[in-house]
Amino acid sequence: MNYIGIDIGGTNIKIGLVSEDYQLISISKFPTPNDIITVLFDEIKRFLNETHIVGIGVGVAGLVDANGVVIESPNIPSLNKIPLASIIREKFSIKTIVENDATVATIGEANFGEGRGTNKFTLLTLGTGIGGGFYNQGKVLDIPMEVGHMTINYQGKLCSCGNNGCLEMYASGRAIRDSLIEKIEDGESSQAKYLYEGNFYKIKSEDVYRLALEGDNLARQVIKEAGKALGAGLANIINIFCPEKIILTGGLSKAKNIYTETAINEAKKRSLKGLNLNIEIVQSQLIDSGGVLGAVFLLRNQ
Ligand SMILES: [Zn+2]
Repeated sequence: MNYIGIDIGGTNIKIGLVSEDYQLISISKFPTPNDIITVLFDEIKRFLNETHIVGIGVGVAGLVDANGVVIESPNIPSLNKIPLASIIREKFSIKTIVENDATVATIGEANFGEGRGTNKFTLLTLGTGIGGGFYNQGKVLDIPMEVGHMTINYQGKLCSCGNNGCLEMYASGRAIRDSLIEKIEDGESSQAKYLYEGNFYKIKSEDVYRLALEGDNLARQVIKEAGKALGAGLANIINIFCPEKIILTGGLSKAKNIYTETAINEAKKRSLKGLNLNIEIVQSQLIDSGGVLGAVFLLRNQ
């Protein structure tokens, strides 16, 4: 008896086969397609042909209601208003749950990762967008934790959510990419100009980070700015919630050098000293698997 865990993000989808004792048997990762439902059905069918599946747990980047309907997904608009849990359940006659991606990642960390042995921690998913989860005394709090849409600049850039100056507009993978493209358009020089046969509009946030590590000054500058913005967001979280730990996960959290380090320094500088002294800000060890494992854990323990 095995389970399928699925983590649907704005940039990538991860699908894992998980055993009864939570061993990750296999995991695959591919870019989030336009026709998500068709691709998901094909992937699930592939697993069903190989092994006996007793449940499917799914995390999605967006607001999800108690029935597994995706209410709103700013970064994956094709899933807006889709009753994802019932669609999968009806197609395959398998128990299925759908939850917010940061919530399942938080459950993953609490049970298998950096959250073990911690009473109160916050998790931030740093990717195309920014999400969050808050764990306290054995459970994920039932609060939205849409940290990506906290205002860090009240007269700032217009966000897809309709607000100005959201954290996501400055600190996310998309922000890093957009910011570098904007600067190149303004005539600043970067090696990114020569990627993708000169079509620099195709660059991804990973390219920016790689270039930064290779010494590209503009890429470094852009990532450092994003790190500072993230630090401002972290300071707000520390001042309001004062968790024991803040766990950073998501593709962008791999950009430890420059981005994460800048964010941690900035957060310590900006938050109240009486609150930040004992807070640990750490990188997840389950960047690709936390959401997959957490989705299966939630499915089995609901
Ligand atoms: Zn927003």
